[in-house]
Amino acid sequence: MSRTLPFAFLFLFLLIAPMAQSYEISENFWESGSATFHVGISGNSPSGESWKSAFTRAMDSWSDATAFQFFAVDDYIDPCNDRGNDLFGDDITGIDFTSTICGTEFNENVLAVTLTAGVCINTECTGGFFISDADIVFNEAEPWDVYTGPLRFDNTIDFQRVALHELGHALGLNHEEDEVAIMQALVTDFDILQQDDINGANFIYGSESSQSTVHGIDVILPQNSSLSGPSNSLNFSGNLSSSDAKFDNKFLDLYQYTFENDSEVDIQLDSSELNPFLYLARISSTQDILADWLFTDDNSGSGTNARVTADIQAGTYWIGVSSGSDNEEGSYSVSLDSSSSGQENTFAKVPSGFGLDVEINPNPNISGGLSQVDFVFEGKFIDLYQFDVINPTNLRIDLRSSEFDTHLMLVDVLPGNVLGNIFLQNDDVTDGNSDSRLEQTLQQGTYWIGVTSFSNGEVGDYSITSTVIIP
Ligand SMILES: [Zn+2]
Repeated sequence: MSRTLPFAFLFLFLLIAPMAQSYEISENFWESGSATFHVGISGNSPSGESWKSAFTRAMDSWSDATAFQFFAVDDYIDPCNDRGNDLFGDDITGIDFTSTICGTEFNENVLAVTLTAGVCINTECTGGFFISDADIVFNEAEPWDVYTGPLRFDNTIDFQRVALHELGHALGLNHEEDEVAIMQALVTDFDILQQDDINGANFIYGSESSQSTVHGIDVILPQNSSLSGPSNSLNFSGNLSSSDAKFDNKFLDLYQYTFENDSEVDIQLDSSELNPFLYLARISSTQDILADWLFTDDNSGSGTNARVTADIQAGTYWIGVSSGSDNEEGSYSVSLDSSSSGQENTFAKVPSGFGLDVEINPNPNISGGLSQVDFVFEGKFIDLYQFDVINPTNLRIDLRSSEFDTHLMLVDVLPGNVLGNIFLQNDDVTDGNSDSRLEQTLQQGTYWIGVTSFSNGEVGDYSITSTVIIP
């Protein structure tokens, strides 16, 4: 129906691209999570809008939808400054229509090219680079315009969707082959960012919070870390280096994901630079590892690569990347495929001896609902969740609902299923707020979280989040 034209992207450093089924990230990123583009090109499109304003709108699309921020400066900078003869640019971003890629011919059907440059992250330059410059050249021989909707039969090219694509390269994304995405190599009828594009940018830049754990190791929490099925695929890469935490004399990176349902998982950890060692470990409400749900592998993948396939219970897990021998460093890639058969979990329920069941659910994140079928305690519906504390832990528990006025209880359960005191209860974090919070140092033992309402007979959905507070 309509022609498709390839985009192109020049890498100035070695690119390691893992096999992938969803968004593709390069190893390169802006350390600041932002980039300032000089957008001062002159001229208007045939339909009347200035190129500058269409380009700026493309920048805003990324800034609005993702954790990455583009800023516009209304100055003209030649994108080819210091770009000829393999020079790495001038560290000032520029855009323009050009007849060549800064001296190199455009290949046939290439619409635009993004040239990036930066500083290697490690001394061997094996783990990508901090981007310091990104310049975009648009092939001036193409018939450009600005429009929305399907590609036109007359072959005019929509400048804005091409700008969206090139800006994706500029922030560190590679081509996406399998999912609907602006980052597909060919221009298509899609004229706005797709979910896969947004997930990719947020994977690189989104609230990648480094959090000290009870084990003294930082955990990376990707922004889209909740996998709800029925099938999920993700690919990411990283680098083991001497700045990482050390565990058992080996460097260790940890990534946290939550599987909403019982799942089958297949995780492959590949590296050409080290002998990779893979962990999959479930963590509890208190961020302790649950030994029943700990999987490790050294060499089940191809060559010396590592692979874990397992049926796992719904819950929060750490994917740990380490090495087979002490002190190994280098880049690696992780690919994860998971599938779940439905909205199912197999948490055991045990009768409490008080006429109501307790769900054994040690997850740091729990979603639930009060309903008419729940047990009634003093006129109010109640749900109970059981977890264990392995080491004394200062734990904060948040109970949130937009549908009813929550009431949160924490109970210590003594040997023989005898209740200790309901020693904490809290209603309303602040006046007029229906959420509840408890914070308490808990000794080793078994505990129940009780979710109920302030008034009799209230029902509705809620969520519980447990956070370990480091003094
Ligand atoms: Zn491209």
